[in-house]
Formats: sequence, C-alpha cells, structure tokens
Amino acid sequence: MSYVLPIWTPPSLDVSGTTDVFPVRRIHCVAKNYDDHIREMGGDPNKVKPKFFSKSAHSLISGTDEVSVQYPRATSNFHYEVELVVALGQGCEIFGYGIGIDFTKRDLQAVAKESGMPWDTGKNFTGAAAVSQITPIAQTGEILEGKIALSVNGGIKQDGDLSQMIYNVQEIMQHLNEYDELLPGDIIFTGTPAGVGAVIQGDVMDCEVAGLPNFKVRLV
Ligand code: MN
Repeated sequence: MSYVLPIWTPPSLDVSGTTDVFPVRRIHCVAKNYDDHIREMGGDPNKVKPKFFSKSAHSLISGTDEVSVQYPRATSNFHYEVELVVALGQGCEIFGYGIGIDFTKRDLQAVAKESGMPWDTGKNFTGAAAVSQITPIAQTGEILEGKIALSVNGGIKQDGDLSQMIYNVQEIMQHLNEYDELLPGDIIFTGTPAGVGAVIQGDVMDCEVAGLPNFKVRLV
C-alpha cells in the first residue's frame, strides 16, 4: 500500500529548552471562559456548560518565542484573543503549557452566529492558531493563576488573570472528555479575557502568561 499523495508531517510545537517537538493531533477551544469577555461580546455569563469549537491542527502557526502570521483572506475585521494553551501528553495528563492567539475573522463569525452556522469560516483557517513553545509542567508546576496579557504595538489591550476562568483547566478537560475521549497530542485553547480587538498588517502583538516565556506575533 502506498499513499497517493506525499505524506505531510504532523503540525508540531517546539518544546522549551530542547530540540524535541510536540506533535499536534487536535485543537479544542473554549468559546466563553472569562466573564468580562462574555459581556464585551454581548453575552450573559453563566456556568451552565462550557461551549466548545475546534480548529484544524493545520491552522497552526508555531514558533519558539516569535512567529509571523499572514493577514488572511476574506476578512476586514481580524481579531486577536490571547489564551493559555494546554498540551496533553501520554495518558492525557498535562504535558505542558504555551501561549496562543485564537485568531478570529470577527466579521465572518458574526455572519455565522446570525445564521446559526458553525464558526469554521471565522475560526478555522491557515494561521488561525498561533502558538508558542510548550514549557513542560515539570518545569512550571500546575498553572492556575497569574497574569494573562496582550499588547499591540506596545499598548496594553488585554490584561486579565488566569484565575478569572469560569471553567478551570481540569474542568475543561472533564467536559471535553464527556463528549469525546481526549488523546495525547491534543491541545486546548482555554479562552480569552476582555479586550479583544482588530489588528492590521504590520501590527506586533506581545503576549504574556505568568510562568511562561513571552510570545511575540507579527501580522504581515
Ligand atoms: Mn478564543
């Protein structure tokens, strides 16, 4: 048996302090996980059930502490959302943590919301998931609280605390696992605090999560 196309290598993330990489299987995302962000989007925070969506592993743009993302097609309202990213290893224990930007074509997401359609056109495209190196939990310990922030061209836009999450990482993992078995290689975007907004070509986003190396994303 042979493949009729050349085989691609799995999308992967750098692992801090090594030349090893973390192979990415699936990207799970929590839609609304900080009260102040739910309010800024016109929603009503309530702890009923977390809302999930996903991105293809091939939407990933990864780098150690800096990446460039190309401004995508078909949007004129392209938003950043800084998030803690959790990487699941063997036995689906937490392997480590990274910093991610859940890039969103907000105009296309709005159309999808209005018409009751899935969010894929607005959330799942090449470059939609910018993710830093993964720092193993053996080095960080379990990350439960601390600063999560994003600035654009030096001006602070998002400035929250991980402890503000409505569903913490363990709860997110339990809920996801109720729907479908989590697998080694899965990564999870855990939601964004308030302050999301649009960026344009040339903008530079500096991301910070307590306990992790900073992550810089250039929009080109
Ligand atoms: Mn998000």
